[in-house]
Amino acid sequence: MSRFLSGRFEKLVAYVPGEQPRDKSYIKLNTNESPYPPAPQVIEALSLNEINDLKLYSDPECKNLREALAEHYGVKPVNLMIGNGSDEVLSFIFMAFCDKAIGVSYPDISYGFYPVYAELYGINKNEIPLRSDLTINASDFQNTGTTVVLANPNAPTGICLSVSDVEEIVKSNANNIVVIDEAYIDFGGESCIPLTKKYDNLLVVQTYSKSRSMAGARLGYAIGSSELIEDLEKLRYSTNPYNINRLTLLAGEAALKGQAYFDKNNNEIIQIREYSAERLKQLGFLLTDSKANFIFAKHPKFNGEDLYLKLKSRGILVRYFSKPRISDYLRITVGSVEQMESLLSTLKEITEDA
Ligand SMILES: *Cc1c(COP(=O)(O)O)cnc(C)c1O
Repeated sequence: MSRFLSGRFEKLVAYVPGEQPRDKSYIKLNTNESPYPPAPQVIEALSLNEINDLKLYSDPECKNLREALAEHYGVKPVNLMIGNGSDEVLSFIFMAFCDKAIGVSYPDISYGFYPVYAELYGINKNEIPLRSDLTINASDFQNTGTTVVLANPNAPTGICLSVSDVEEIVKSNANNIVVIDEAYIDFGGESCIPLTKKYDNLLVVQTYSKSRSMAGARLGYAIGSSELIEDLEKLRYSTNPYNINRLTLLAGEAALKGQAYFDKNNNEIIQIREYSAERLKQLGFLLTDSKANFIFAKHPKFNGEDLYLKLKSRGILVRYFSKPRISDYLRITVGSVEQMESLLSTLKEITEDA
């Protein structure tokens, strides 16, 4: 820290992203990226013409992409705000709808960025404990008197809330915003987007990073009432109106034309997840019921860090969290069949040696 950093950031601890090692080639199952390339339509859309047009600013309204997304989800363009990754969307949401007086509630075990944004914007945090089986008790999130942020499926557990549970939460917090972060919804959960037509205090956030194989493009969006979107747009225009670059805008639009490819890939990930889960159970692992593109698993004979390091030394990267209650778990991204076979045979060796 320099002596010039504003005092208001003294206590801020930055988010730590999953490792992106450059030193050697790992089987990378640590940041929930897709093993598949983006849809063929994306590759076709990125022409030399558009590269030449990088001399021009991108469209601050993101008009074409908003129209395409609106049609895709059966909403209107005024119900959509586009961000540079859903992390940026979430950042604007915390900035817009929380402060010292309006705190934020989220589960004690959830996406690691929520407490960072709360700290960044000086927001009071209300961290509500998961049950001992790591599920969310939906009634704990009713009548909070705060903004509510829930990842659904939750990260890093992968466990889903039902749409009716979410609806009860939205109804009971009518004077506050409820944010449903659906980063992993396309791997078997049910989206709450339809509820945004019924409730003006609900925002659903999604991303191209996981189910659309476009983590490196940085593209996410919020869907909600036109009033909420207007608030977010005000802050976006006050920060960076050109937040989405030209290539990403085109890629995002093109990706929506690859519906068959999208469905096929996500179905494959679900099948590989279920198959890998079964094999892990045979090795003695205990798993949460994940509906995401990752598995959350622990072995009764190992601590999480130990297993993580053993895997890393054998060339396989997974995510481990040194956090109370989940420090025995590994979060393993569902990769290709070959990647998962390597993981499973390596874990078999490690656990049988013990
Ligand atoms: C991956 C992830 C995001 C962020 O994704 P972006 O790459 O910024 O779009 C947001 N929320 C959760 C729960 C995630 O796991």
